[in-house]
Amino acid sequence: MWIIANWKSNKNIAEALDWVSKVGPQIPKADNLKVVVCPSFSALSEVKKAITVGNFPIMVGSQDLSPFGTGAYTGEEPALLLKDLISVSILGHSERRKNFSETDEMVVKKTEQAIQNNILPLVCVQNEETPVPQNCKLVAYEPIFAIGTGNPDTPENNNRVAGILKGKYGQDLEVLCGGSVNSENIKACIDQQNIAGALIGNASLDAEEFVKICQTIGEKM
Ligand code: PEP
Repeated sequence: MWIIANWKSNKNIAEALDWVSKVGPQIPKADNLKVVVCPSFSALSEVKKAITVGNFPIMVGSQDLSPFGTGAYTGEEPALLLKDLISVSILGHSERRKNFSETDEMVVKKTEQAIQNNILPLVCVQNEETPVPQNCKLVAYEPIFAIGTGNPDTPENNNRVAGILKGKYGQDLEVLCGGSVNSENIKACIDQQNIAGALIGNASLDAEEFVKICQTIGEKM
């Protein structure tokens, strides 16, 4: 079961380290619980260092990466330079598609870059029609109406969409639910047969709330 924190454009280094020091020691040590934190690029290396030093069961991810390799691509963060810091990368988030005109074609290129550099791509799909790039084995179903609104999709509909995606792309595709998931609704969300965890935005920023989410899942395992 995956629990992935997407901090978006939040937390400076001091705030990020404070979160790690509070959350790290409290993550339940369950074999199948995979916890990932995705800070901003500016905090990535300090967060990675703090997690390594604390020996906490948390992986580090990025919220994006470049569709290109290294070279003359000002402002971009290529997978080759990120791979020592991260194990996962969120790709094709609806906020990137909307605010940065990210296209399905760019998401395919980013997915290829991630895979070539041993980074696990986590592709966000907004509905069952959003294409999942080849060789992508982890997606988050995040309908736009549910993101940051306090209005999550129903567990049944999450399960239905996840079932369609698995039918299209293979039963080994893991599907996360996302959009306004918190410690109150996480249990109903992950109790669904086709759901392999959750991608969490707002509720991941608060250390105590995030620990509650992880503990709810840990109890189930
Ligand atoms: C997200 O945008 O990835 C997300 C899950 O956001 P929130 O939980 O804040 O709706």
